[in-house]
Amino acid sequence: GGIDSLQPLETTIPDAERFRDVQPLYISCPGCDQEFPFGGIVSSNHYMMCYSGLQCKHCNHLFTPLQLTCQLERSIRLHISLYYAGWVQCDDRTCNNSVRRQISVFGKRCLNDGCTGVVHYRYSDKQLYNQLLYFDSLFDCEKNKKQQLKPLYFEGDADFPKELISDSSVRALSEQNRDYLEVGRGVVQKYLGDCGRRYVDMSNIFDFMNPTI
Ligand SMILES: [Zn+2]
Ligand SMILES: [Zn+2]
Ligand SMILES: [Zn+2]
Repeated sequence: GGIDSLQPLETTIPDAERFRDVQPLYISCPGCDQEFPFGGIVSSNHYMMCYSGLQCKHCNHLFTPLQLTCQLERSIRLHISLYYAGWVQCDDRTCNNSVRRQISVFGKRCLNDGCTGVVHYRYSDKQLYNQLLYFDSLFDCEKNKKQQLKPLYFEGDADFPKELISDSSVRALSEQNRDYLEVGRGVVQKYLGDCGRRYVDMSNIFDFMNPTI
């Protein structure tokens, strides 16, 4: 438990693999209300990074850094609250109460009458930590520049970008937006710091209550 569990996340696994199960960062345009996933400086039918920041392709609205970071922060808080809701799932597929909140301090046993199943957290501390690392990667200037981000779209997707940004544009735009990206990164880092500490604290608490979860 604890900090040891962080290690599989720290290696050289490509982001596409490491962040396979994370949720995208959805943002909506303050100009036209269009909602779309933000995946860093990558090709999208909905937005583009220009030399002065993020621009909506539907209405040309130029996001101020705050208009982006507020939505980023809201999304982070949503994930944190999902984690704190403490939903657990029974591993017995025949169990009726398979998803519910964990209130019990009786450990990993399912509390459904007669069920011999074991409950697991649906949104684990590791998942939350990985989600935050994903958000962090989107605002990482070097990762953007080297095009190491998890792709937003795959060929064949209905929403696959009609126009692709060239490698040299990605490099130039990453440099031009360094400060802009840093603002977003600062927001994620604030929570990652908290989460990292809490990750260790919480796993210790959970280990104490539920030795094998
Ligand atoms: Zn543990
Ligand atoms: Zn718009
Ligand atoms: Zn059960």
